[in-house]
Amino acid sequence: MSTSGTALTHQLFINGCSVPSSDLSSSPLINPANGETIATVSNGSAEDIDSAVKAADAAYRGAWGAMKPGDRATALRNLAAKIRENVEELALLETKSVGKPLSSSRGEVGYAAKVYEYYAGLIPSVCGQTVPISANGTGLTFREPLGVCGLIVPWNFPIVILAWKLAPALAMGNTVVVKPAEWTPLTAIRLGELAIEAGIPAGVINIVPGLGPVAGAALSAHPQVRKISFTGSTATGSAIMKACADDIKRVSLELGGKSPSIVFADADLEKAAGSVMSIYDNTGQDCCGRSRYLVERSIYAEFVERFVANSRAVKIGDPLDADTEIGPLASTIQWNRVDGYVKQGVAEGAQLCTGGGRPTAEQFAAGSYYEPTVFANVKPGMTIAQMEIIPFDSETEAVEIANGTPYGLAASIWTRDVARALRVVRAVEAGVISVNSSSSVHLEMPFGGFKQSGIGRELSPAAMEQYSEVKSVFISAE
Ligand code: ADP
Repeated sequence: MSTSGTALTHQLFINGCSVPSSDLSSSPLINPANGETIATVSNGSAEDIDSAVKAADAAYRGAWGAMKPGDRATALRNLAAKIRENVEELALLETKSVGKPLSSSRGEVGYAAKVYEYYAGLIPSVCGQTVPISANGTGLTFREPLGVCGLIVPWNFPIVILAWKLAPALAMGNTVVVKPAEWTPLTAIRLGELAIEAGIPAGVINIVPGLGPVAGAALSAHPQVRKISFTGSTATGSAIMKACADDIKRVSLELGGKSPSIVFADADLEKAAGSVMSIYDNTGQDCCGRSRYLVERSIYAEFVERFVANSRAVKIGDPLDADTEIGPLASTIQWNRVDGYVKQGVAEGAQLCTGGGRPTAEQFAAGSYYEPTVFANVKPGMTIAQMEIIPFDSETEAVEIANGTPYGLAASIWTRDVARALRVVRAVEAGVISVNSSSSVHLEMPFGGFKQSGIGRELSPAAMEQYSEVKSVFISAE
């Protein structure tokens, strides 16, 4: 970090040092709660990505590669401790750039620390096998790191999603180049600095903020990068996968969703209709957000009434206020996207039950705030992307509607009938399903999508496999 005049400039973090971008390009960062410029950030070029990859490669072949697994675990635990020591600073950076309530940011920073600790704990479990192939020899397997991994991170949960990728990558012994999202690079840059204080050698973690089509594309195409792990939109995921195809780079993708919540007539209606934060949390900017409620027709009217009332009660406000439940959208680009979908929903004939624009109070005028918005009487096939409530008449129809999108990330099923819950769990094409709950993410459980929602799994021991190769060895006894 450096100061020039009064504007704080955040630079790239390569090989343990803050450096400007090679072409001196930079962008302002805007606080979505009030439109103010909070900082200036250097934009990495293809040349900067190359320097970062070379630094990561040298660290992989040098200090990090030579470190004993137990010492790597200690370094990850030290990083978790550093994150906890700096929770207030990190939370404020996250809130000012994403717009999420400060209480949520504090929780997310604390959770990120836990992710590093969890993967530190898994390091001793990375073992191979001995396989008695024949009397004349023995097979051995080794699980080995990949080398330099490129981590491309989105703007909705910056410090959390970085931890989901970085912790297992480092635990397996890889080194990384991180490309944070344009609007939200500050916590990643700070984390790079904290990692040095935690004893992680220079070059192991390099942070190159910049534009997706420039820095992100250069990272995906770089021949020395062995793997790209990406979270973001399906369109960008597809572009990255194409870029990785040239040199058969490993790729894991966590992409968009349009996740259903299926509510049967025998469900606990208060609980199901009370689950509004399953879509409004993080101002609706959550890939697992349950943005389609499919509701059995006999309880449809009552469900809509309760859901709309609960939506109106969500407290929208300044992210720094303690009682705020949702802040602004993360940027004016996001605001325009959301508003475009809402207008499209109205044009397609869906019934707008509540919300549909910027809240009218003066305090919301300068920020990218948007009211919680609900559409009813939505027909499958409409393209709106707000909270929609769709009626169904049978279990088969519910499953058909649930599966009727190109996505398959998450789903919820609300019913007291265990047999039905199990049938629907097996029939719904989604990677993460909860019954009588909207929770999607558990550190100990694999997380990822079916269909166009992605490839590969994050979290749990499964993530370690995504950052490693298996080597099979035969040793002759003859
Ligand atoms: P959004 O959800 O706003 O559509 P994206 O999925 O495009 O966002 O962005 C998620 C991350 O992907 C960001 O870090 C962004 O800079 C990066 N990115 C965007 N375009 C590309 C690209 N062509 N190649 C690599 N990374 C990209």
